[in-house]
Amino acid sequence: MSHPRRARALEVVAPYTSAPLGHFIDGKPVAGAGATFEVIEPATGQVLGRTSDATEAELNAAVAAAKGAFPAWAALTGDKRKEILHRIADLIEERAEDIAAVECLDAGQPWRFMAKAAVRGAENFRFYADRAPMANDGKALPSPDHLNFTTRHPIGPVAVITPWNTPFMLSTWKIAPALAAGCTVVHKPAEWSPYSARMLVEIALEAGLPPGVFNAVNGLGETTGKRLTEHPDIKAVAFVGESRTGSAIMAQGAPTLKRVHFELGGKNPVIVFEDADLDRALDASIFMIYSLNGQRCTSSSRLLVQRSIYDAFVEKAAERVRKLKVGDPFDPATEVGPLIHTNHIEKVLSYMPIAREGGAKIAVGGERVPGVGDGYFFQPTLITGAEQTMRVAREEIFGPVLTAIPFDDEADALRKANDVEYGLAAYLWTNDVGRALRVSGALEAGMVWVNSENVRHLPTPFGGTKSSGIGRDGGDWSFDFYMETKNVALAYGGHKIQRLGV
Ligand code: NAD
Repeated sequence: MSHPRRARALEVVAPYTSAPLGHFIDGKPVAGAGATFEVIEPATGQVLGRTSDATEAELNAAVAAAKGAFPAWAALTGDKRKEILHRIADLIEERAEDIAAVECLDAGQPWRFMAKAAVRGAENFRFYADRAPMANDGKALPSPDHLNFTTRHPIGPVAVITPWNTPFMLSTWKIAPALAAGCTVVHKPAEWSPYSARMLVEIALEAGLPPGVFNAVNGLGETTGKRLTEHPDIKAVAFVGESRTGSAIMAQGAPTLKRVHFELGGKNPVIVFEDADLDRALDASIFMIYSLNGQRCTSSSRLLVQRSIYDAFVEKAAERVRKLKVGDPFDPATEVGPLIHTNHIEKVLSYMPIAREGGAKIAVGGERVPGVGDGYFFQPTLITGAEQTMRVAREEIFGPVLTAIPFDDEADALRKANDVEYGLAAYLWTNDVGRALRVSGALEAGMVWVNSENVRHLPTPFGGTKSSGIGRDGGDWSFDFYMETKNVALAYGGHKIQRLGV
């Protein structure tokens, strides 16, 4: 692990690792007074630094800053917010290489994907910057007696809580629309990958975002995250993470009637029919599960293949999986990097005996990769001969593990695809247009890609059904979450008003 980009990443995080990393509140760094915990480099297992768990007072100060900054930020014109958000995007672009390198360092994600993810973060800001002037707009809904019109107003200070898999890109996806809507933000990044979040909040201040509009607190989920979601001055929680954490946050926010937006886990099927373009289907299936180390909510972790082509297709998949390049995340040739943490590699590993005991076969991989430093490298793995009833076909493993399952016909494919608690994304490969329409209509998923991998188009809705989420991001959907809609009914003055007590 001696790539020059790693040396650069260490230089970039040096100000954050020389002492335990605290918080960023009201436009200023705050040294944390709370307990500290280690941040580990997934590729080497070495300690990069320590981070502070926010104390109750620190958390309260962050929320107070967001509350204090809200009226002025909400009152600013959309054009002014647009200007500042574009400036944030400019600075992200200027620092994209450093941001990407930091993601390789503390999240272990391969450079080939992170370089694009940092730039995507800037695009998220530009997309919502351009929409900021329209965020307040509503509808005219005239009736014979009244002119009804709606307007939208930012809901207030919001919490954004994010995971570690693609930390920077995911956080911009929430923070950009919140700021464009006129909300103020307290962000709590994942404890295992805190550094790019600090870069973002510093960039935002440098870009001219007023102090207090965007604050960042570090800490653990059970302490800092919990307090944030319980705080009465936080009006909404945008959360990305595991389904069970979503349930906890819903309960934590219930006493204060928090509005919640959840992007949760997935066990997404890629369904390959015998009439499909099989070469493209193979490329997309491999990409969607082994990119981002398989730590991807929209990963195609279940490969459902029609029985007539199952053996041949799965054999070709196996050849590709064997050849995947596992290694240093900073090396641009690397396709699969390390998993995030020792706890996570243990979790992924634990599914291997579960697969065998369930009656499936581990056709490729299944073990830690020997000899690639002391990091958490797991072999790209292909499980074959699985049935939809098995745990490896039902539970989110969140690693480079693909479970292949045969199906007989359209009805069987649909039954198996939908037979999970999740419903985030689904991928469908067929050249029969009628079948594409029938199956995409019946799939229980928030997003279906036909003859494609996950290609994100920002105006479209992103989100899941069932245990995969509540609400949608993207386009105008994000504003619906971060804003309150108000209806004003203006009488023409001639309608009959009942006269009581005359
Ligand atoms: P996680 O739920 O463990 O943690 C996510 C965040 O929630 C972290 O910042 C954590 O500190 C915080 N948290 C934990 N407990 C909390 C609590 N009680 N109250 C408040 N905050 C709390 O998830 P993870 O392991 O970091 O991330 C992986 C998961 O994220 C996977 O399930 C994956 O599918 C999901 N994910 C979903 C999407 C999507 O768009 N649907 C995108 C990326 C990741």
